[in-house]
Amino acid sequence: MTDVKKHFVNWLRDAHAMEEQAVTMLNGQAGRIENYPSLKQRVEEHARESESQVKALEGLLARLDTSSSTVKDTTGKAAALGHGIGGMLSHDEVMKGVISNYAFEHFEIASYKVLIATAEQLGDSEAASVLRGILDQEQAMADWLDKNTDQITRDFLTRDAAGQTAKA
Ligand code: MG
Ligand code: FE
Repeated sequence: MTDVKKHFVNWLRDAHAMEEQAVTMLNGQAGRIENYPSLKQRVEEHARESESQVKALEGLLARLDTSSSTVKDTTGKAAALGHGIGGMLSHDEVMKGVISNYAFEHFEIASYKVLIATAEQLGDSEAASVLRGILDQEQAMADWLDKNTDQITRDFLTRDAAGQTAKA
């Protein structure tokens, strides 16, 4: 295997672990959000997208890799980021979640940009196309958060000031 291909396989595995973390994180959040319906709906939608991304990455690894442990568990690498996102038990957990999701989506965007450039370097246009499709979903989620963070914050502050459960 060339060095470029080795990097590609390793970075695909990292992305796979990242997406498994995303699925856990997003499903956990969606299950807790009660008072922010548009956020809940978007998080649920992106959880489903992330599940399909896990499968797409497994498909890319399966067609590339020669070894048996195609998707060996590299969850530890993504776990550190994910745990920062786990800080959702405070009264402002919905805001902590929004901030963490914003960071996580941009972590994903950077990861897929690296993977796409590597796929192109390998001349693997099929993989590049799959990865561009995933990047579009990450960018759309990041854009949604970018557009909606102001309103979610105002909703949180309004609920908090009215003595309502602002939590999640
Ligand atoms: Mg993702
Ligand atoms: Fe994402």
